[in-house]
Amino acid sequence: MPVTRDTVMDWMRRFAGEMEEHRQELVRLDTAIGDGDHGTNMDRGMRKALEKLDASEQADPGAVLKTVAMALVSSVGGAAGPLYGTLFLQMGGAMAGQEEVDLAGYVAAWQKGLDGVKARGKAVPGDKTMVDALTPAVAAMEEADELDGALQAAAEAAETGMKDTIPMIARRGRASYLGERSKDHQDPGATSTYYLYQCAAEALAGTG
Ligand code: ADP
Ligand code: MG
Repeated sequence: MPVTRDTVMDWMRRFAGEMEEHRQELVRLDTAIGDGDHGTNMDRGMRKALEKLDASEQADPGAVLKTVAMALVSSVGGAAGPLYGTLFLQMGGAMAGQEEVDLAGYVAAWQKGLDGVKARGKAVPGDKTMVDALTPAVAAMEEADELDGALQAAAEAAETGMKDTIPMIARRGRASYLGERSKDHQDPGATSTYYLYQCAAEALAGTG
């Protein structure tokens, strides 16, 4: 089954639901190494995104993601709004005008999104950011030969990438102000990115 407008709508609904459900967890993670707002930021931003999605008909998968990007950028202060906004805007641009996106097109879109996040935030793998969940996830997709399997593998890789941030010393974002003291904490943005991939896999499989 290819990626369609409906799968992407389902993905975004699931992600908004997860951000609401895990708001406290993300706040707790961000309180340890940041300013404690990541959960409220993501929950507020995705609520806004759903409002926008429901307010007008979205033409195709790319249009859905562009609408989400705009909502996040305009409603979320802090690093994560513009960074997730960039991810979705770049992904949406890569899929522009296509009603159905196949594995190669979807991998290319994620790669473009990841490149955008790195260009915007200047983080590289190992800096203890969402890039540490995105990078292995996109790499896992590239290895796969069908969409369902690609998303499953990517979600697992994102989870590993998220956990791998625990021993890292942050070099980007607010957590970097803590230096060595940022060690032994899981990065909040890598955690929300894991949920994003988990939701993408579930939406495509139609489960969860
Ligand atoms: P803020 O740090 O402005 O309070 P959030 O708390 O919503 O914003 O988001 C924090 C998360 O954003 C971090 O856990 C990290 O994953 C991600 N992040 C912060 N700065 C960068 C960056 N320069 N590049 C990539 N990701 C970043
Ligand atoms: Mg914060």
